[in-house]
Order: sequence, then C-alpha cells, then structure tokens
Amino acid sequence: MIEEVGSNVRGVNIGDEVVIYNRLFDGTCKYCLIGHEELCINGGLIGIVTNGGFAEYAVVPVTNVIRVPKCVGLDEAATLPVGALTAWHMVFDRAGVRPGELVVVFGATGNVGSYAVQFTKLAGATVIAVSRKANKVRNALIGLGADYVVTPEEAQVLVNELSNGLGADLVVDSVGQATWNLSFQLVARYGRWVTAGALTGGDVTLSLPSLYQGRSL
Ligand SMILES: [Zn+2]
Repeated sequence: MIEEVGSNVRGVNIGDEVVIYNRLFDGTCKYCLIGHEELCINGGLIGIVTNGGFAEYAVVPVTNVIRVPKCVGLDEAATLPVGALTAWHMVFDRAGVRPGELVVVFGATGNVGSYAVQFTKLAGATVIAVSRKANKVRNALIGLGADYVVTPEEAQVLVNELSNGLGADLVVDSVGQATWNLSFQLVARYGRWVTAGALTGGDVTLSLPSLYQGRSL
C-alpha cells in the first residue's frame, strides 16, 4: 500500500494497493527501447542493487509500481511480477506456444511452473505437468489447467504415448540439473526447450548433435 508519494509522482495515490515490479530500469538503453526492460544495462533487482527490498517500507520509482485491482488479492498479486512475467516471457515471447501443441512443464508446482501450466493451457496446448509429488498435487494442477500430472519417471512414457513417439513440442524446465537429461530428451524435432531457472544446479552436459539434429533451443 502506498504510504507516501514524491512531489513529481503522478498516477498513484496514498492508500493505493500496489505490487512492485522488482527490476529497476532506465527506460533509455538499447534494451529498454525495444521493450525489454528486464535486460536493461543500467538495471538490477530491487533489494540487490538497492537497499530495503525486504523491509516493511520501501522506496521505489513510480515506474515500478503497478496498481492492484480490487478483484485481485494482494497475495495473488505478489506472485505476478516474478512468477507470471517469467512464465509469460518463456512460453509466449521465447517459445511461441501454439494451440494443439504438446507441452511438458517440469517443476509445475513452483511459482513459475504453475503459471506456465496456466498460460500454455490458455494458449490451447495439451499440458503435461511434471512434479515429484504428482499424487499429492494432482488435483491442484488439474485445477490450474494441466491435462496430465505425472512424476518425472512417468513423463517419457506419457509423452511417447501422446505424440506417437515424436516428443513434446515445448518443454519448460526451470528445475535445472536434476531434470535436464530427461527434459531435453523429451523435445520433439523442431521443438523448443525453455528455462528460467536452475533450482537444482546449473551445470549440464549438452551433446551438440542432439541439439542440431532436428532440435532447436
Ligand atoms: Zn535500460
């Protein structure tokens, strides 16, 4: 909630409920000018390049403030700037998910993963959500739009079955090292593999022929 506004600030008022976009950006560099403020060469994360990100009160530029409509809870809104934006960027901007595609989302219960499930489903894809705790989280993930919920061990068989052995059109995997071998194997020819995290470690082995022989990242 806004407690105070600077004298030149327009568009937000004391008492407004807001969520903070947590990346600072200058709005003038090459990347900002093409609409990718997240890549700003003079930017950084609030709380990392500035103090106070974890405090009860924080000072942020008005350009980082987004009003939360009354119909959206603050808890839910707080998940949007990181989880939803990251998933959106991955599945739409980078991977260009299309209706009818077969999509596999690893780490589907995570903040980014759960949004990736929802966005790919909304795009008209068939969505396989992968989670170690598949049995426990099945209902929740189906509620978010997953068509199937499986453990990593079950993923390969299901993808083969649904694609006649061709593989998945898109694999979303921010889990990292632990799932890399499996998740990359699941990608169909001309498919896409996207990531925005390395929760279990970031060092992986990549066979270049497996990349250029029909696959694209
Ligand atoms: Zn910039």
